[in-house]
Amino acid sequence: MADSFKNFIDGAWVEPSTGQYFENRNPARRSDLIGNFPRSSREDVDRAVAAAKAAFPDWSRTPAPARGDILRRVGDLLTARKDEIARAATREMGKTLQETRGDLQEGIDTAYYAGVEGRRLFGQTVPSELRNKWAMTYRRPIGVCGLITPFNFPLAIPTWKMFPALVCGNTVVIKPAEDTPHTVALLVEVLEEAGIPRGVVNLVHGLGEEVGAAIVEHPDIPVISFTGSTETGSIIAQTCGRMHKRLSLEMGGKNAQIVLADADLDLAIDGVLWGAFGTTGQRCTATSRLLLQDEIHDEFVARLMERARGLKLGYGLEKDVEVGPLIHEASLQKVEEYIEIGKGEATLAMGGERATGEGLDDGYFFQPTIFTDVKPGSRLATEEIFGPVLSVIRFKELDEAIRINNEVKYGLSSSLYTRDAVASFRAFQDLDNGITYVNAPTIGAEAHLPFGGVKQTGNGHREGGWEVYEFYSETKVCYLDYSGKLQRAQIDNYEASPY
Ligand code: ADP
Repeated sequence: MADSFKNFIDGAWVEPSTGQYFENRNPARRSDLIGNFPRSSREDVDRAVAAAKAAFPDWSRTPAPARGDILRRVGDLLTARKDEIARAATREMGKTLQETRGDLQEGIDTAYYAGVEGRRLFGQTVPSELRNKWAMTYRRPIGVCGLITPFNFPLAIPTWKMFPALVCGNTVVIKPAEDTPHTVALLVEVLEEAGIPRGVVNLVHGLGEEVGAAIVEHPDIPVISFTGSTETGSIIAQTCGRMHKRLSLEMGGKNAQIVLADADLDLAIDGVLWGAFGTTGQRCTATSRLLLQDEIHDEFVARLMERARGLKLGYGLEKDVEVGPLIHEASLQKVEEYIEIGKGEATLAMGGERATGEGLDDGYFFQPTIFTDVKPGSRLATEEIFGPVLSVIRFKELDEAIRINNEVKYGLSSSLYTRDAVASFRAFQDLDNGITYVNAPTIGAEAHLPFGGVKQTGNGHREGGWEVYEFYSETKVCYLDYSGKLQRAQIDNYEASPY
């Protein structure tokens, strides 16, 4: 009998009101049933929101450094359980243990950063234009935050959202992706052990169209943070627009690595292998386009293919495995559709099929795939695939590469390999992305820097670093007039002056 998991509402692990569950299986070994998770309903969301709302007055008045102290303890506990939780994450998500350990470390870094931020949360003191008057700002908590997370970073992304929301004094209701509910259940266990007060963190498992939609539509949730597909993000944005909710969206990417002829080619090959095939291409920052300068194109492609052919696919808990499976059957099918589209638009240079063989037949494995002769503007070159598919585009001059990079609707990350300092600064200035790397792949965000994209990747907010604290708090402006008389800004101080 597989384990049955529960929701966490108002400080207790509880069964869903529906009595229904959905299966969570290992994508590398479908016969491995991890457990049954609650298929919750609106009623469960209502209960979770009521608990979060009830906990808000006390939590929002708890001194921010004390809130931060709990997050510091969360960091300690995650460190102690890093390997155990990373193994659970690999089992349900599929990426290699090395990668899920990185995922855990990102959560640990985010926890310690949040712990310190509890002692900062700075406002500003600003000179007033009037005499005997003070002006200052501080940051206020907002209320209950609804957090909806995807499968690809089962621990890090929930922590990116939850920890700053909590340190800012908000309470939360989180719904993890139905493909990776176990990792978030373990995270909530850690929060419980760290002493998070009852009702401050609530976890409701379930499907996107059911529990996710109920969270987005709930009138008592003023803040929504979502990471996932552009399609779902659009649906959520419509509801949030209608209901005047604060919304942070983190969605698709079509990220390019540009290699100039003067680059260290070995380094650039290491970069694109990791960027394109790490996490089986299922990162919003994955390298899905490789732009090669004419002079080095053929040599680079030949060397890259040789290395890519050597990548070891398999179950991420097994030794030496470099690439895990895709997350589910629908994802495999989507990749297959793009292979067919690609065959009509470009040259299939390697891969292009489901990967089979020993240790692979019971999972959603797909061969690392490379298309060459890809034309800028084609579907392969512009649409997000979210799989191990790399499209190679040839260019002559840096200007052309910049133009091609910018010709997509997304704008998350980009990368340039070169030894030329001037080209590097051109890249920083002109590549239309939220993040640009020089001599590093398109992936590799650090927890203490802002993360996010321009254009249709997001809606202007950033996760990570200091900027996310602005998203989870409202600026309050405070004026104190001790002049003892009515002072009218813009009037009394200017009427007498020549200006
Ligand atoms: P991905 O391609 O990463 O699976 P999705 O957008 O499908 O992206 O899923 C990301 C998260 O959004 C998941 O937790 C999923 O359950 C949730 N979700 C899906 N549809 C909706 C919806 N209509 N409203 C709210 N959340 C949703």
